[in-house]
Amino acid sequence: MSDITEFRPTDVLIVGAGPVGMITALALAQAGASVRVIEREGQIINSPRAAVYFPSTLLVLEELGILDELDRIGFRNRAFGTHVPEFDYHSVVVTEPVEGIAYDYQLHVGQHDVARVAMEHAQRLGVDVQFGCELHGFEEYDDHMLAMASGPDGEVTYSAKWMIGCDGARSMVRKLAGIEFEGHTWPERFVATNVKFPFGELGYEQANFVCDPVNMAVIAQLDTAGLWRCTYMEDSSLPEETFAERIPQRYEWFMQGRTDYEVVSASPYMLHQRAGETLRKGRVLLAGDAAHATNPCGGLGLTSGLWTGIVLADVLGAVLKGEEDASILDRFSDERRRIFWEVVTPAATENKRMLQEADPEQRQKDLGFLKALEDNPESGALLMLFAYKVIGDVLRPNSRWAHADPSDRVAIDIRNRKGQIH
Ligand SMILES: Cc1cc2nc3c(=O)[nH]c(=O)nc-3n(C[C@H](O)[C@H](O)[C@H](O)COP(=O)(O)OP(=O)(O)OC[C@H]3O[C@@H](n4cnc5c(N)ncnc54)[C@H](O)[C@@H]3O)c2cc1C
Repeated sequence: MSDITEFRPTDVLIVGAGPVGMITALALAQAGASVRVIEREGQIINSPRAAVYFPSTLLVLEELGILDELDRIGFRNRAFGTHVPEFDYHSVVVTEPVEGIAYDYQLHVGQHDVARVAMEHAQRLGVDVQFGCELHGFEEYDDHMLAMASGPDGEVTYSAKWMIGCDGARSMVRKLAGIEFEGHTWPERFVATNVKFPFGELGYEQANFVCDPVNMAVIAQLDTAGLWRCTYMEDSSLPEETFAERIPQRYEWFMQGRTDYEVVSASPYMLHQRAGETLRKGRVLLAGDAAHATNPCGGLGLTSGLWTGIVLADVLGAVLKGEEDASILDRFSDERRRIFWEVVTPAATENKRMLQEADPEQRQKDLGFLKALEDNPESGALLMLFAYKVIGDVLRPNSRWAHADPSDRVAIDIRNRKGQIH
């Protein structure tokens, strides 16, 4: 028979020590909340996933006090390449400083580093992180909830006033709460590979889109030691278990016949365009991919998921202090769902379409669009600004994030700019 262990109650229990769980934990701890994080795996997961952070994310990392550390681990990039091999078209958009925006670069750093650094800072503020601990049930009461999990030493019960599911797209918290994940799953399979190969020698920038109906790809440099990410699409009717055997054949095209590469890790995955029907049900809240999951074309997944966690930490921190009524959590849910469906989904969907467009007429139109963007002196600024759209309304005028709210200057700036960037 398993042991039942009771831990000291906390204000908040976060399920999932991914980047959103740990950033949300840090922000809540800085707001004075007592927080516990439980994570199914024995350590922070290091799979090939988010690697590029836009200025709207850098703003979060700086405000939380972890940007300098991550800056030292990763590197800054200002160039974004778009390649359409069929037309031998290659363009580079270089980010430019924009008045009022502190960052004129994108930071490349692995999301496991973001989660780890956030965790270390959170632990210094008393956040308790339990690894090897998988949530499998919960009970809700008037003023608290009990969460049941299997830990390394047996069954464990945690008591908290609120629970946040940051447990990824397949969220157990969301399923247990009976919250539907509305939207659709794309028919294609993507394969994310981390590989040592000097892509720069073949004319790739440090971040790239490759537009091609068969060989679409997103290629980005991950570190200064020669590690790159090459994510491509494959037909989902091919058996998933043999995806690794097909990597050399697919690389032949991207690496133009060169074989001097070393695959470090690879994983196939399905893509979604889905959001919870609500991000709040009673004392259960959702953030990150558990709340909304997008296809990764354009890097808006973590970019928007982190902001969902940040806005939640801010409003929940205020509820815990008695500064706000709990009804603000419903407004949080409405606003973050709006951002997902009105901002993230159209942009990520359009990026994905353009990357894999097969219709010759539409490909010509896309080429025209890319050329216009290349010729637009504002394109570098647009590249810097577009990710600010994921911030949305931060809901509290006296929030620590009020200065980030783009509803005034930045949104107007985006509208006044000449071009459109997806
Ligand atoms: C190939 C790829 C590239 C990407 N590139 C980018 C990019 O450049 N920019 C960008 O913004 N986004 C990108 N994304 C999206 C980004 O990776 C996700 O949005 C991000 O991982 C979401 O973080 P999260 O913390 O919400 O969830 P996750 O990172 O999925 O973390 C969830 C955690 O919860 C744990 N967990 C799950 N169930 C339980 C349970 N029952 N009990 C306890 N713990 C549990 C898991 O073990 C995991 O550690 C990419 C995604 C992919 C797949």
